[in-house]
Amino acid sequence: MKERILLSLAHMGGTEKNWVDEAFRTNWIVPLGPNVDEFERRLEGYLGCGKVVALSAGTAALHLGLVMLGVGKDDEVICQSFTFSASANPICYQGAKPIFVDSEPETWNMCPIALEKAIIDRKKVTGKYPKAIIPVHLYGMPAKMDEINAIAQKYNIPVLEDAAEALGSQYKGKLCGTLGNYGAISFNGNKIITTSGGGALICPNNETAQRVKFYATQARENRPYYYHEVIGYNYRMSNVCAGIGCGQMDVLADHVARRQEIHDIYKSELSDIEGLTILDNPNCDFQSNFWLTTILISPKTGRTPDEIRVALEKENIETRLLWRPMHMQPIYQDAPYYGGNVAETLFNQGLCLPSGSSLIDEDIHRVIDAIKAQFK
Ligand SMILES: *Cc1c(COP(=O)(O)O)cnc(C)c1O
Repeated sequence: MKERILLSLAHMGGTEKNWVDEAFRTNWIVPLGPNVDEFERRLEGYLGCGKVVALSAGTAALHLGLVMLGVGKDDEVICQSFTFSASANPICYQGAKPIFVDSEPETWNMCPIALEKAIIDRKKVTGKYPKAIIPVHLYGMPAKMDEINAIAQKYNIPVLEDAAEALGSQYKGKLCGTLGNYGAISFNGNKIITTSGGGALICPNNETAQRVKFYATQARENRPYYYHEVIGYNYRMSNVCAGIGCGQMDVLADHVARRQEIHDIYKSELSDIEGLTILDNPNCDFQSNFWLTTILISPKTGRTPDEIRVALEKENIETRLLWRPMHMQPIYQDAPYYGGNVAETLFNQGLCLPSGSSLIDEDIHRVIDAIKAQFK
């Protein structure tokens, strides 16, 4: 059996262990500590704007983003339907109600037209506007942020970007995660860089970042005894995990470049196959990090994505179907949905290809050959 090729793996640069050893040497085996401060400083340097708070997960970052935007019981929050459940679940943690919106076919992300329809209709139905909007930069592809932000501003609704998969992606020269009011990124094991598990919330300024840190450390008021005026969370990143993150910052740019290179190899080798399309940047305003390279398989080919997945599995190659939209999930079957069948069609026709930055060209060509063999 040939060696297994996985979709996306943790990829260490080499210096991570020094930071972790330093945490052990100084006995900073706790949440908070010098590695956490350094990791936040490095992320801020990379992003070029905003204040960063390192947290235990991308999901925690999204949750605290909603807390900061004042989302509470009986509020409504608009969320892209075509995404991973972690984009939407924090809405429910707050006792609020998710309203799902379809994607547009160019970026596969939140459709601005469906977004505005949803806002207008929710106002009609409930008498008030949704409290926040969560667009997602899925698979690293930036959403149409100018259009989304313009609508958000028109109705005075804040934007919380789910940039969990999009660290290093750019929209009109600006990094994803810095394009809305708040931005969430993930350092889960399969993302662009990892801290084994972790996330960060990108905040507009120091004051909001301090407040996020307060919420993330059990909301302890500044008194000599434990005193609480609001509900807090235990969401801070550990100093050990942040050490891995500090080392990963050395290789972040390389990881992004490698994933983009892998996408280019797939594009040049697979574009000739009739009925197969690769998601690409719609124009130069969009610079995806291509966290995962994704393809669509037209029904005209007579093949389904799942058949291709099973066939590649036999070659010991891992691929994955696209995210099943939230409005098609049992947990969200009663949530209002605005749009058509774009997300549903993408789900029915799409497949994610192995794209990890540690993959060598030979691995990618093995995947390409296995796919080509399916369309002979
Ligand atoms: C990974 C991911 C998250 C959650 O991040 P975690 O760090 O795993 O909690 C949220 N949204 C999207 C789109 C993701 O891919």
